[in-house]
Amino acid sequence: MSRDPRYDCLFEPVRIGPVTAKNRFYQVPHCNGMGYRDASGLAAMRAIKAQGGWAVVCTEQTEIHPTSDISPFIELRAWSDQDLPMLARVADGVHAHGALAGLQLCHNGMNSPNLTSREIPLGPVDLPVATFSNDPVQARAMDKRDIADLRHWHRQAALRARKADYDIVYVYAGKLFGGPMFFLSRRYNTRSDEYGGSLENRARLLRELLEDTKEAVGDRCAVACRISVDELIGPEGLHRAEAEDLIGLLGEIPDLWDLTLSGWENDSQTSRFSPEAYQEPFVHTIKQFTSKPVVGVGRFTSPDTMVRMVRQGILDLVGAARPSIADPFLPKKLEEGRLDEIRECIGCNICVSGDFTASPSRCTQNPSMGEEWRRGWHPEYIRPKQSDDSVLVVGSGPAGLEAAMMLSRRGHAVSLAEAGETLGGRVTRERTLPGLAAWGRVVDYRQPQILTDSRIDLFRSSPLTADTLLEFGAARVVLATGSRWRADGVGRRVLAPVPQPAGYRVLTPDDLMDGVLPATSSVIVYDDDHYYMAGVLAEMLALKGYQVSYVTPAAEASSWMHATMEQHRVQARLLELGVSIIPHRILRTITPDGIEATCAFTGQVHQIAGGSLVSVTARLPNTSLMQEMQARQAEWADAGIKGVSLIGDALAPGTIAAAVFAGRRYAEELDAPPRADGLPFRREVTGLAADYQIPGL
Ligand code: ADP
Ligand code: SF4
Repeated sequence: MSRDPRYDCLFEPVRIGPVTAKNRFYQVPHCNGMGYRDASGLAAMRAIKAQGGWAVVCTEQTEIHPTSDISPFIELRAWSDQDLPMLARVADGVHAHGALAGLQLCHNGMNSPNLTSREIPLGPVDLPVATFSNDPVQARAMDKRDIADLRHWHRQAALRARKADYDIVYVYAGKLFGGPMFFLSRRYNTRSDEYGGSLENRARLLRELLEDTKEAVGDRCAVACRISVDELIGPEGLHRAEAEDLIGLLGEIPDLWDLTLSGWENDSQTSRFSPEAYQEPFVHTIKQFTSKPVVGVGRFTSPDTMVRMVRQGILDLVGAARPSIADPFLPKKLEEGRLDEIRECIGCNICVSGDFTASPSRCTQNPSMGEEWRRGWHPEYIRPKQSDDSVLVVGSGPAGLEAAMMLSRRGHAVSLAEAGETLGGRVTRERTLPGLAAWGRVVDYRQPQILTDSRIDLFRSSPLTADTLLEFGAARVVLATGSRWRADGVGRRVLAPVPQPAGYRVLTPDDLMDGVLPATSSVIVYDDDHYYMAGVLAEMLALKGYQVSYVTPAAEASSWMHATMEQHRVQARLLELGVSIIPHRILRTITPDGIEATCAFTGQVHQIAGGSLVSVTARLPNTSLMQEMQARQAEWADAGIKGVSLIGDALAPGTIAAAVFAGRRYAEELDAPPRADGLPFRREVTGLAADYQIPGL
């Protein structure tokens, strides 16, 4: 197959200063929770994107100096030449597949609490650091010496970038991460010297860094400038008109403009709250102010939208972070006319949660994300089968779909049995809830491949029992039978079933998704799960006209969603819909007309009124089939069964990402010899210093 001519313009080369991108697909800098701790894992992840056809592959933020230490976030470092081998490993992998490597140099200024380095953070003024965690640390106002130092460090780091063979070197002034943005900001920068006041003055530091970088490495490397065009806080923040003026001032200095929104939660908005191309209104005029190429993002997954961005002169390069994580081979698939095979980002920000939890990013759609080096997984390829075992997968949720698809790719004969008529399990149910439609892409990507795969026999409306499993005759049985929500209030804070009146029916998310709605006009939604489900159900009930009280032991609704940068939006949406949010309350007893709940701090008992209760606390795995099979293990050999495994939510309920991962893991590890060290994956251990000694000994 070859590409559709409609998409030809996406494959035109773009000149960026002294280098040329072979097409318009540009993986913008994005963090990944690996950074300097998991350098080889990070390098392999970037290299695979280059293999997948991205013309430019950038690193994440790369701290240029110990005064720019953003611990606990794990990014890259270019503090000294000691970092060169790590930086070079990333660039080499990208070059091996013919892409340009970009290094996002960064001095984080007032965004760096310097918790590791213990240096005093630097900013335009004396103010507390601007971090996600309100660290008790203040930045000090930079004097002229500090500015000279910063320019020197940045120049040294740029020279290191060139030494490590990068093609594009960034000056970062965006998202209130890049320190120069604090100087650009009228809110933060109240200086009265030549670095404060007018836009020209506030842009002085950025101009100097750009000119320094051009002068240091501009002969061989393109210099990119990343800025934020709007902070979405109205006139007091940086906004588009000011960004246009800024580019009017500096427009021709860098070789490339990389546009974002600020902060990160505005830049990486989720599908629950924003459509594709949500940044278009903020960037569509910028190209009028510079002759240099412009790259921007907006969770682009549709090639038609990408083409429109180019044709309408909004962007020269189609930027992507999340779409490149969900499908590192997106450009190649477009080029080869394999549109149906594109694994579209669902916009869930599970990837972002990796950064917030200081763990390697994982992806709901692409289970190989972060596993490329340590487990040897590839987003597109999987090693051939080692045996002729046939496999029966029971259950077609995300775990079962992924297992069936990848087992078939290995060459196994696969049967997939699903109790219901439709495929997709929990995803097919949850995609109908408010804001979760795009999550259905987990099924939309896998289902067509399964339906057209001659190696997979599909059995719909087939609730299997131990008898049918034993009759089936498959060598391997995988039970991906899912889970169901508990109705007894047991979760994180309550560990024993909550007393309830005789005959009372507590509703669960499963009930609501089955169409069972509260019979009363007032409803309590009790959330001890803290991810999306309770918030989504409260929203759904409020939209249907119920009077909803959202009760939770946490301080706020859907509290874990800070990690996906959505908590504030969930809370705002519920409040706007009139939902009453009652924090710090632990379910104690269910009464005919509400609940009794204890204060999470004092233990004082409160009555909360509500005609019905929707309990969102925890799930129980569906293990009954496994238990029946275990009870009949003596019959396995005669039935030709070598093994029965539980995977996904049926083993331990978790995220959709965890279920997809479980399906992939089963397929990857079938017949795989155990590692010699007994660990599930290889790891990189910090190199010990040769000059180790204990002070005073
Ligand atoms: P996971 O997230 O682990 O993939 P889901 O709950 O999404 O789990 O999906 C489980 C699927 O398994 C559901 O579609 C359900 O209908 C199906 N299922 C459960 N038990 C059986 C069974 N005995 N036979 C066939 N399918 C089953
Ligand atoms: Fe997209 Fe979700 Fe994957 Fe992130 S985790 S790349 S948002 S599908």
